[in-house]
Amino acid sequence: MKFGTKAIHAGVFPDPSTGAIMTPIYQTSTYVQAAPGEHKGYEYSRTQNPTRHQLQNNIAALENARHGFCFSSGMGAIDTLVKLLSPGDEVIATNDLYGGTYRIFTKVFEKYGIRFHFAGMEDASAVQSFVNERTRMIWVETPTNPTLKINDIAAISAIAKQCGALLAVDNTFASPYLQTPMDLGADVVMHSLTKYMAGHSDVVMGALVCNDDKLAEDIAFLQNSCGAVPGPQDCFLVLRGIKTLHLRMQRHSENGAAVARFLNEHPAVSKVYWPGLPDHPNHDVARRQMRDFGGMLSFSLKGDRIEDAMRVLSATKVFSLAESLGGVESLLGHPASMTHAAIPREERLKSGVTDGLIRLSVGVEDVEDLIGDLEQALI
Ligand SMILES: *Cc1c(COP(=O)(O)O)cnc(C)c1O
Repeated sequence: MKFGTKAIHAGVFPDPSTGAIMTPIYQTSTYVQAAPGEHKGYEYSRTQNPTRHQLQNNIAALENARHGFCFSSGMGAIDTLVKLLSPGDEVIATNDLYGGTYRIFTKVFEKYGIRFHFAGMEDASAVQSFVNERTRMIWVETPTNPTLKINDIAAISAIAKQCGALLAVDNTFASPYLQTPMDLGADVVMHSLTKYMAGHSDVVMGALVCNDDKLAEDIAFLQNSCGAVPGPQDCFLVLRGIKTLHLRMQRHSENGAAVARFLNEHPAVSKVYWPGLPDHPNHDVARRQMRDFGGMLSFSLKGDRIEDAMRVLSATKVFSLAESLGGVESLLGHPASMTHAAIPREERLKSGVTDGLIRLSVGVEDVEDLIGDLEQALI
């Protein structure tokens, strides 16, 4: 099956009792047993729920993986995955990580004796210098936030295989429409379903997928033991959102391209960060591992003054100022004072998060209105 067909049909089936084409919301905590242990695969909804089950299978199919697991947030998915590790184990992670991932690694798991190294992975060989006999996991984000750096998943996978570490890829920014890390050698793919997958800014949820049966068994054990599971209503919303994932991602990518080109020509803009631009430093890798380039982009204003950035942020009418991304509506944000405010200025300047940097999550509105909005705001 091709991607759009899978988005609509994979893993889901009409309700056996009524024929309802949409997966019902099985709003139940428990299931009647004919005799102790005699049941239809469902005993208690922390362990398994039919609405969640169909969503998990649907997401696994989209990522070309065999097993899927959903969690009550993206952070819940990350929390569960890191619990596969033991004290003394080491992780090598992309250096400009999603802030919440950096926080759980350094503020939560370091306390339990897990050690994290942060590497600039645009050149995959930088990963190699942190490898030692305790390396258990390599954690990759690509494209990164907010400067849209591209890391070569296949090249990093070769290093992971050589040292016997698990390769985990946070595929939130790309979605499986733009890239499928399992096909490039990832062992686990993680999602904040909150973003493009659900796509309508109305739910918080996360997911993990994998192929290996033993790994799936371990994740299922942790999912049930730690209990960060989503409710069936939210699972229904994500299943419904995914049915248009391919349509939305096409439009996000088209609009992203048009906005990137507009900003690239604008006299008030000094730099545009979008992997589809030919002068992006890893454009070749992006072309190889991505199907299109998506609607996330950042740009910096000439002079890099915070007051200029603030003026633009308050002048837009179609773009709303908000955290998060990946919904149908266009959002903009100021990483230096929002998502990256906790990072010391010197540190964030090193990774390109300047005072004049603005991040856009380009939505699926008519692109003329989006460009018009930016044009009037940039004066
Ligand atoms: C939002 C996000 C997360 C965290 O997911 P939540 O659903 O907010 O818990 C992790 N990684 C990336 C790249 C994200 O954008």
